[in-house]
Amino acid sequence: MFTLLAIVLPAATVAVLGYVSLRQWQHSAELLSREQARDVAAMAADKVEMVLRATEDDALARLQATLAARGPVEPALDGFVAATPIAQRLYVLDRGARVVYPRAPVDGDAPVISALRVLMTRGWEDRGGRREVAVGEISVLTAVLRDGRGPALIGITRSAEGLRRQVLESLLPGQEAPTIYAIVDSAGRPVYSQRPLDGADLVAAVPFRNGFPGWRIAIYQPRGTSPVASVRRQVSIGMGALAVLIVVIAAGVVAVGRLVRRETEMARLKADFVANVSHDLKTPLSVIRMYGETLEMGRVPDDASRQEYYRVITRESERLTRLIDNVLDFSRIEGGRRRYDMAPTAVEPLVRETLDAFAYPLGQHGFKVEVEIAPDLPEVAMDADAVGQALANLVDNAIKYSGDTKWLRVEAQAADGGVAIAVSDRGIGVPREEAQKIFEKFYRVGRSDTQARRGSGVGLALVKHVAEAHGGRINVESRPGEGSRFTLWLPR
Ligand code: ADP
Repeated sequence: MFTLLAIVLPAATVAVLGYVSLRQWQHSAELLSREQARDVAAMAADKVEMVLRATEDDALARLQATLAARGPVEPALDGFVAATPIAQRLYVLDRGARVVYPRAPVDGDAPVISALRVLMTRGWEDRGGRREVAVGEISVLTAVLRDGRGPALIGITRSAEGLRRQVLESLLPGQEAPTIYAIVDSAGRPVYSQRPLDGADLVAAVPFRNGFPGWRIAIYQPRGTSPVASVRRQVSIGMGALAVLIVVIAAGVVAVGRLVRRETEMARLKADFVANVSHDLKTPLSVIRMYGETLEMGRVPDDASRQEYYRVITRESERLTRLIDNVLDFSRIEGGRRRYDMAPTAVEPLVRETLDAFAYPLGQHGFKVEVEIAPDLPEVAMDADAVGQALANLVDNAIKYSGDTKWLRVEAQAADGGVAIAVSDRGIGVPREEAQKIFEKFYRVGRSDTQARRGSGVGLALVKHVAEAHGGRINVESRPGEGSRFTLWLPR
């Protein structure tokens, strides 16, 4: 429990800290990139305005020269407008506030002309320099120039197309950069953009001060390439990595938990095993000792009884040997030191020898024993001692776990290109869900009728190991209360 907490708590802390710091990083990175974009936009706006102003100053100088020149003024002014893309409309008012140019006003000229006339207050002629006058949405550039007859007030409205051609195209950075510069009007509609804006994200916009009030210079980034988008992408990757980390840690915790549970279970089984083996050894030993002492003290009157005593001692010591062999072999298997000496062996004698060794207990319990061995069984390459021991374990179990019906059947026949030896009983059987577990080391069926019988839980593990070492297998068919049939199959 404590170990689990020791893993889970730091992992959870790392996850939370990671999440919080990723979010903070995202926030500050977004802020920073917005600020940078705004700086870039402001710089671009400054540059545009500077160039615009220089272009206009140049236009005013040319206009002054045109006005001062001799000759008909109107064609000369037409020429000036044609040569000045930035100028949309030009207005020239003489000192009497009469419109000198354009000769043929169009719709929309009237408000500009009246705005210019408003400027002609006392002393207007002496006002030098340029001024901006707002007429509705647009801004008009005005200046006092001189023509051949005296001062004149001029007004110029700007052309967006001229702005694009004369200023923006030469000024704003080239096509390669991912950033797109654009000019948007007061409603946010793009008036000009370097490249199509489809799907691009607006990163920052700063207002234009002179010339185009209400317009803004805006910076766009194609979708997915903006610093904000890349920060978001990195944050998602970070979050994904964090999630994977958490899943891995969680899987690790579950795996460790399972391992600990299995180890605990194994430790318990081992403790049971030691107790069971000691108990198993003690029973035959005390029988041997009791019979031996009785014989030694000369308390057995007749020869027949003495013979019986000797037989019991021999039988119990045989059992003891089997038991110790089992444990020793098991420990050899566990240590990877068990070796098998293969030699062609006839099956029938092996089966009969094994059963002979159990003749006494079988007879004593009144077992009905059936043996059916197919004639002409081929010899099988095997370690005869090991297979004999495996069979002995199966027969021993059939006796140990017998019920009221004392019945044992051993069959051997050719099957699947090998030989199958089956040991059947009509004993207590094995519950279906435990049928595979009984072959695991130390495993004993948990029911009280099994637990009441001596045993250490290594017999079937040994049988399985022997079967597999020969390239064969062991399996069980069983019904609780009806009996079991263990089949050991060995390849030829
Ligand atoms: P044990 O020393 O307990 O007999 P084994 O490995 O030989 O150990 O057997 C494992 C378990 O399988 C036994 O504890 C018993 O529950 C079950 N078992 C084995 N053989 C039989 C059988 N013939 N009938 C019923 N249960 C059996």
